[in-house]
Amino acid sequence: MDILTHTLSGIAVGTVISNASTSKIKDKLPILFLAGFGAALPDLDAISLWSGFDAKIGHFFNLKVSGKEIYSGKYWFSHHAFLHSATAAILLSSVIGLFIHLKHGLINGFARNIKQSFIQNRHLILAFFLGFLIHLFEDMPTPASTWGGVNFFWPFKTYIGGTGHIWWWNNYDIFLIVVAVIIINLNMAIVQNYRKYPIGKVSIGVFLIGLLLSLYQIKTRNYNFAYEGHTPQYEVYENKSKEIQKKILGETVFHWMEQLDKKLPVYF
Ligand SMILES: [Zn+2]
Repeated sequence: MDILTHTLSGIAVGTVISNASTSKIKDKLPILFLAGFGAALPDLDAISLWSGFDAKIGHFFNLKVSGKEIYSGKYWFSHHAFLHSATAAILLSSVIGLFIHLKHGLINGFARNIKQSFIQNRHLILAFFLGFLIHLFEDMPTPASTWGGVNFFWPFKTYIGGTGHIWWWNNYDIFLIVVAVIIINLNMAIVQNYRKYPIGKVSIGVFLIGLLLSLYQIKTRNYNFAYEGHTPQYEVYENKSKEIQKKILGETVFHWMEQLDKKLPVYF
């Protein structure tokens, strides 16, 4: 799935956590940031596709294989491997928690121990963790390709997903659902600033409705995008996916989304 929908899905999770926390708006923004950051981070393992990878990183680490082979391969640092695992989510969330503890300690003195620090910053750490996880779940209904899903339980070798329910890109309907969840939850947070009422549970409800709608969309593409390895049918799948989107969204909205797609510097 594309990096923009991934990042925004993380922010959508972040809106639920920030609306459930009782902190001030300025303290809620880092929650949204960390959730979005966590949701974007797994695709850092696609760095091996970067044109300068072989000459710079590959050369530095004395790698015997090219970036392209690494990307499609089953090395722990390949795409959909370690960085697409729950293990990485736990480890990196701990690193984030530790980083926050050290940063706070260096500025204000180490009055709190690590455990107290993790409890106090639980919203931030949870936002990163759940943002990271939602990315992994979103990649599962894409085609198996050379990996066969995501290596969710790394270091175990099993790959999960790769079902081909959706195409890699142009899942505009899901993008729009995610944006709607963010807008509704952020608006509730703004209103809550003036009229104090608890919005935590309503925000979870909004998120769950968005999740169910997305699952419905994923399950009702009525087309099988599944393939293993590489496919000569790439263009066919891509066009079919766009055709399905046009049917779901109608000509006008589809046109808007295509315009947005063309303006973005990333695959969308
Ligand atoms: Zn991914």
